[in-house]
Amino acid sequence: MSTGTLASSLATGAWPQSLTPDALRVIDLPTPYLVTDLDTVAARYAAFGAAMPGVSTFYAMKCNPSPEILRTLAARGSSFEVASIGELRMLQALGVDPAGVLYSNPVKAPGQIAAAAGMGLWRFAFDSPGELAKISERAPGAAVYVRLAVDDSTSVFPLSRKFGTDVEDAYDLMLLARRLGLRPYGVTFHVGSQCESTGAWRTAIRAAGTLMERLRADGIELEMLDLGGGFPARYLAGEPSIEQIGEVIAGELAGLPYRPGLIAAEPGRHLVAESSVMAATVIGREMRGDEHWLYLEVGAYHGLMEPLQTPGGWDYPMRSSLPDDPEAPQLPFTLTGPSCDSSDTIAYGVKLPATVTVGDVLYFGSAGAYTLAYASSFNGFPPPTPIFVGTGDPRAAR
Ligand SMILES: *Cc1c(COP(=O)(O)O)cnc(C)c1O
Repeated sequence: MSTGTLASSLATGAWPQSLTPDALRVIDLPTPYLVTDLDTVAARYAAFGAAMPGVSTFYAMKCNPSPEILRTLAARGSSFEVASIGELRMLQALGVDPAGVLYSNPVKAPGQIAAAAGMGLWRFAFDSPGELAKISERAPGAAVYVRLAVDDSTSVFPLSRKFGTDVEDAYDLMLLARRLGLRPYGVTFHVGSQCESTGAWRTAIRAAGTLMERLRADGIELEMLDLGGGFPARYLAGEPSIEQIGEVIAGELAGLPYRPGLIAAEPGRHLVAESSVMAATVIGREMRGDEHWLYLEVGAYHGLMEPLQTPGGWDYPMRSSLPDDPEAPQLPFTLTGPSCDSSDTIAYGVKLPATVTVGDVLYFGSAGAYTLAYASSFNGFPPPTPIFVGTGDPRAAR
């Protein structure tokens, strides 16, 4: 949340009807909690598939690994993307076949490669000779897909500094993979999380096409193009719609030198962010200098970490338990967490009703992604309780 960008506490973004403050009062559970509407998860999954015909969805479970969400997506036909053996074991415990799962973390612990292969997973991402050596030793004959570094400057959370290689090196690496007895299977990229420009996918798919062209001359036809994640959810910033992104992707896929048998995508945030609302009670209101501070049950360490990760701040849509009165006077507040650290402060200049006080509840919308997954019990404050409503029926989503 950035300084003063929230127009008012009633800026509601994409807020499911089932999770409005009035609807939540009925639930009557102690705060803090994170409530998720499983019908909305199913509806986002359906809308994603409709916007990307011919693209197979592999939910990136790191962004919210709640079993209820994993089960809902599996029931709708989703597969999954994992970054660790722990995630793969969670899926297996829910009845998901590891053979259908993608392991897209480009740098893996050697023992985890062997363990995943032992469970039947056979497709591994990589971006270096070192990783290829690990995979060929621990999972001989496995299928490998190379991670390209792409322009991620239009995303809120860039990733291409930590991972990825350029087309030239990717070409050499795929030939090396073949020499090592591995199956040169595919290419992937990640445009960065919460990517706000459709052009990022255009550039990235073209780079993948260049690699496909070059490898074909060496007798390698790729079986998979994996579009990665980064598909934006709606907060308050005017993000492109999934339909707009789907159109750009379809146009670019049509321009590839050939179409790999599997076009995969690994949406995380897009499928789950809008399905959840975080409820946190105000535990203190104080003046510090001329600044109005609200101390909440939830701060950065208990689920609202993303505001700290973004230099420009992070705008969650917000509501409060106070009556919706557009005429009520407002004040700018600093929002902080319950701990004795100041680094759990999540927002400055958030306009809220001037009367907000101890006992009132603040509701953060679009809070389903990268919230509970990060939460700890730091300083003895428990993370928000996960609660689920709905049955995973996309037609019931409101
Ligand atoms: C985190 C991650 C994703 C999901 O990213 P979102 O921005 O949440 O869509 C997909 N693929 C990989 C390899 C990731 O690390």
